[in-house]
Amino acid sequence: MVVVGLLDGVFMFVADLSRDIEVPHVVDFVVASSYGANTVSSGNVKIKKDASASVRGKHVLIVDDICDSGRTLASLAELFRSREAASVRTCCLLDKTCRRVVDVQPDYVGAVIDDHFVVGYGMDWDAKYRSLPFIGIVKPHLYDPAARVEEGDDG
Ligand code: 5GP
Ligand code: MG
Repeated sequence: MVVVGLLDGVFMFVADLSRDIEVPHVVDFVVASSYGANTVSSGNVKIKKDASASVRGKHVLIVDDICDSGRTLASLAELFRSREAASVRTCCLLDKTCRRVVDVQPDYVGAVIDDHFVVGYGMDWDAKYRSLPFIGIVKPHLYDPAARVEEGDDG
């Protein structure tokens, strides 16, 4: 079995998850970014750093921190299927089901969350806050001025 973590946001989750998986496995990492196209194909995700080893004939668990539009997990699953993995399953710590654009349902989900921007436990905002030992919700007015009135200006 190969656990394929999608960097960078997943590094803390994979560290914990890997220690809890009781079957022998290796851990590999991919750096991917989605292009933003609406269709599902291995063509709409850009691989910046590919997996180090072949997945041919192996059971693959793709792990991401968050499933948002679903493009990343859907595209990576298709990519590893095309590489003739024995099986491909997907896992995310957090699932923003309300934001889904492509038809994908991760096989293993830590928690379903509402439409918030979250940081900490590996997840960043502009490269910051990854090291927080908890997951926090960024107040919307910090990235969306229109949210200030609704939310109250309490900093
Ligand atoms: P998708 O391809 O499903 O639209 O995007 C998934 C990726 O978007 C995740 O791997 C993560 O990098 C990023 N992402 C989505 N929502 C959030 C969020 O609330 N906080 C952070 N830090 N990253 C997010
Ligand atoms: Mg990511």
